[in-house]
Amino acid sequence: MDVICGVKELLHADLSGLNTFGLPSMAERLVVAESKTDVSSYFEKEQPVPSLILGGGSNLLLTRNIQGTVLKIEIPGIEVLNETSEHVYVKVGAGEVWHQFVLHAIANNWAGIENLSLIPGNVGTAPMQNIGAYGVEIKSVFHELETFLMDESRFETFSLNQCEFGYRESIFKRKLKNKAVITSVTFKLNKNPLFNTKYGAIEQELVRLGIQDLSIKAISDAVINIRQSKLPDPKKIGNSGSFFKNPVIEQTHFERLQKEFDGIVGYPAGEGSMKVAAGWLIERAGFKGKRIGNYGVHDRQALVLVNYGGAKGNEIFELSEEIISTIKKQFDIELEREVNVI
Ligand SMILES: Cc1cc2nc3c(=O)[nH]c(=O)nc-3n(C[C@H](O)[C@H](O)[C@H](O)COP(=O)(O)OP(=O)(O)OC[C@H]3O[C@@H](n4cnc5c(N)ncnc54)[C@H](O)[C@@H]3O)c2cc1C
Repeated sequence: MDVICGVKELLHADLSGLNTFGLPSMAERLVVAESKTDVSSYFEKEQPVPSLILGGGSNLLLTRNIQGTVLKIEIPGIEVLNETSEHVYVKVGAGEVWHQFVLHAIANNWAGIENLSLIPGNVGTAPMQNIGAYGVEIKSVFHELETFLMDESRFETFSLNQCEFGYRESIFKRKLKNKAVITSVTFKLNKNPLFNTKYGAIEQELVRLGIQDLSIKAISDAVINIRQSKLPDPKKIGNSGSFFKNPVIEQTHFERLQKEFDGIVGYPAGEGSMKVAAGWLIERAGFKGKRIGNYGVHDRQALVLVNYGGAKGNEIFELSEEIISTIKKQFDIELEREVNVI
C-alpha cells in the first residue's frame, strides 16, 4: 500500500476480504486513517467526500463496486481518562476491534459490556446502531464520542442525549448518515458489576459450565458459547449477523396475529406496542434453511442471510426483498433491514 501525505492508500482495492459477507466489490481507491489527524487532513485535501466509511465490514451488504474513495478507520488506542469509586471512564480509538476491547475490560474488571462479547466490528461503529445483545445495549455504558462533521470540517463531541440512541438506531444512521466520521468513543464502565443474566439462555449456560461464583468473565464465557452455537462464523460462512430488525407493532395487531398464528413470539415494547421476533416470522413463512445456489437463509437462525461462497450482493438483496414482501402479505408487518445496503 502506498503512503501519500502520511495516509495509507491503495488504488483498485478488493473489498471482498473486508466485509464479513465476503461479497465481491472493488473500490476505486481505499484510504486508511490511523489517527484523528489522518481524518481531518483527508477532508482538508479531498473533495468530494468519501463514498463509504468502513470499519470492520460486519454490517454491510455490498451490492456494487465503489466509485471514489473508501475511507477505512483504523484509529487505535485505549486510555483511562478518569476514575471514581464507582466508575472508570475509558476512551477507545474507533479502529479498535470491539471484542478485543470487551476482553480488555473484563481483564481489568470493568463491567457493563460482558453481555456484548463476540459482536464483530469496531468500537467506532458500535454507536452507529447502538449495538445490543443479551439484554444490554451500548447506550447503557456510553459516555460520549468524538466525531468529524464533514459539512462543517470540524470535530465535535456528542453526549449520550445528542446521539439519539434507539433500538439499533442513532443520529448517525439518520440525520448524520454519511456526514460524520466517529474517531473515538468514551465509555463509563462500572467497578461494581450489576450482573445481567436474565436474557436468553445465559442462566442455563452458567449452570452447564458449573459456575459457582458469578463474575463478568463467567457471563462473557457463557455469551460466547451461546453465540458460537447459534450464529454462523463469518470466517466459515459469509454473513452480517441479523439481517432484519425485530419489528415493533401495535398490541392490538399482535393480539390479532396471536389468534391466527399459534406460538408467535413477541415482547412488550413500551405502552401499547410489542416487539415481534423477526426470526419467528421468517421461519413461519418457510424461509429458514432455504438455499438458492450460493446463498440463502441460515438453517439454524432464520434472521441471518448467508453467502455460501461466490454469491453477489444484489442476489442477497433480492432474497431480502422477497422476504420483506412475503412477511408483509402474511402478517401485515413491514420488516426493516438492520444491515447497511451499499
Ligand atoms: C456474526 C455476526 C453477529 C452480529 N451480532 C450482532 C449483535 O448481536 N448485535 C448487534 O448490534 N450487531 C451485531 N452484528 C452486526 C455488527 O457486528 C455491528 O453492527 C457492528 O457494530 C458493525 O461494526 P463494523 O465496524 O463491522 O461496521 P461496518 O460494517 O464497517 O460499517 C457499518 C456502518 O457504519 C458506517 N461506519 C463504520 N465505521 C464508521 C465510523 N468510524 N464513523 C462513521 N460511520 C462508520 C459504515 O459506513 C456503515 O454504514 C453482528 C454481525 C455479525 C457478522
